[in-house]
Amino acid sequence: MSASGAPFRELVVDLDAVTANVARLRELVGTEHAMAVVKANAYGHGAVACARAALAGGADWLGVADVAEALQLRAAGIDAPVLAWLHDPGEDFVEAVAAGVDIGVSSLAQLETVAAAASGAGPAYVQLKLETGLSRNGIAPEHWEAVFARARELELAGSVVVRGIFSHVSNASPEDDRAAVAAYRDGLARAEFAGLRPGLTHIAASAAALSLPESRFGMVRLGIACYGLSPFGAASAAELGLRPAMTLRARVAAVRRVPAGTGVSYDYTYRTDRETTLALVPLGYAEGIPRHASSRGPVAIGGSRYRIAGRVAMDQFVVDVGDADVAVGDEVVLFGDPATGVPSADDWAEAADTINYEIVTRLGGRLRRSFRGGAA
Ligand SMILES: *Cc1c(COP(=O)(O)O)cnc(C)c1O
Repeated sequence: MSASGAPFRELVVDLDAVTANVARLRELVGTEHAMAVVKANAYGHGAVACARAALAGGADWLGVADVAEALQLRAAGIDAPVLAWLHDPGEDFVEAVAAGVDIGVSSLAQLETVAAAASGAGPAYVQLKLETGLSRNGIAPEHWEAVFARARELELAGSVVVRGIFSHVSNASPEDDRAAVAAYRDGLARAEFAGLRPGLTHIAASAAALSLPESRFGMVRLGIACYGLSPFGAASAAELGLRPAMTLRARVAAVRRVPAGTGVSYDYTYRTDRETTLALVPLGYAEGIPRHASSRGPVAIGGSRYRIAGRVAMDQFVVDVGDADVAVGDEVVLFGDPATGVPSADDWAEAADTINYEIVTRLGGRLRRSFRGGAA
């Protein structure tokens, strides 16, 4: 089936779906600005291609965790505004500031380091991240006043521009998120009192952006929803008008007819209960297929649904296809757009006791990634 010396294992990303999802989300949230979050290689979808697709759909900001992820976008020629918010203590920010990357600042020490990195290269653009209840990074409320005052000083000295003030919510409950929004509003008021005039205000990621209108402010940061998956789990992606961008597929590498009582894969956690056909799929936990989905993960072969039989191994798993006419080389779809009759990333999340975010982000190993659609 393959001239490349490797079994066919492919992750297909539909860039037109990303573009359409972002356009749809812009329509739904109606904010002045929309950031497409492309951290972690765009949740496994391919950062550079997805960044371009999201910009084509109307995103006017890109968001990443690391400075290195931002610099990867710049190296690919993407000059759209980009914010990076999670930093190593030793990060010096010189390259980031020179590349025009906005730095999310979570402490006074970080603010000083960014200001120092700006010397000579013009002002550094920063966005102050406020802790409002998530207990991750972000400036603690007791330090807001000191950081705001210092930021204003650095603005007047010309080394820093506070372009935005932002935070992040827990999704624990609407009440918890409203409390975070209230704390954030308090932070914005105090920043204004300190003389700061941040043009960008943002606290909502996909879930809050879609479900809590008062969290939208001037911008929302959209991650999972850009890729056509719902932050609320199964079913609602289609209800929201979103289309999953990722399809994971392979081809049957071997078939074997076996009698009843045949043990399948390591530990024989699955035994056939009748004469049946076993199909071998060349994908395993090295590719990020969760071993936790052993005997549970769904696949589609020839328009029918099956489940994994027994353990997911490092390179392969087995599917019991009964008496179906399945042959070597047949396409096996693990997940894609459920509107086409195949399982969804949400089905896999359920099978592995996790969330759709983890299913798509963890894929890698020997998978080949290919793109459909897009400008190119
Ligand atoms: C990952 C992340 C997002 C995007 O979250 P989604 O739930 O995927 O929309 C937004 N903001 C921050 C700070 C993040 O870390």
